[in-house]
Amino acid sequence: MTLAYVALGSNLGDPQRQILDAISALDTLPGTRLLQRSHLYRTPPWGLLEQPPFVNAAVQLDTELPPHALLEALLEIEARAGRVRAQRNGPRTLDLDLLHVDGVRLDDQRLTLPHPRMAERAFVLLPLNDIAPTLPMPAYPTVAERLAQLDTGGCERLA
Ligand code: ADP
Ligand code: MG
Repeated sequence: MTLAYVALGSNLGDPQRQILDAISALDTLPGTRLLQRSHLYRTPPWGLLEQPPFVNAAVQLDTELPPHALLEALLEIEARAGRVRAQRNGPRTLDLDLLHVDGVRLDDQRLTLPHPRMAERAFVLLPLNDIAPTLPMPAYPTVAERLAQLDTGGCERLA
């Protein structure tokens, strides 16, 4: 049994629907089951400011898939949701990021683990804190302690 944490985000189409559908899709991946899901949050756009607000969530999975196979599965779910990679930090129907896999450190062409930018982003740590407040991160003792230092202004819990 290996625990893996995935961040979900969407700001095009029906974001809440797409996040909930993606969570169901994650639960049906081979050798994988959903253990926990966070609340859903509405969060201000980041990077590129002239775009709709995002809906964000995070999940904890128990998976037998090796990290690269899990990443491929995430990209496939994104593609099925109609994701087009148009603009860096731009609007998207679905973004699935692999944040952390227990015991795994990796940095290659396809995949970096833990996710290198997770600790800077309130829209990632706010939902992750619902399900894994004591998870350690590179350079920070825990998700909860790092989140307390970030600005969560404009973030709103939905469900
Ligand atoms: P972002 O999520 O940073 O806005 P994308 O979703 O377009 O950008 O991801 C671009 C690429 O990042 C993916 O195709 C994937 O190969 C790579 N990548 C590297 N590490 C990770 C990770 N931990 N989780 C998700 N994607 C990753
Ligand atoms: Mg991504």
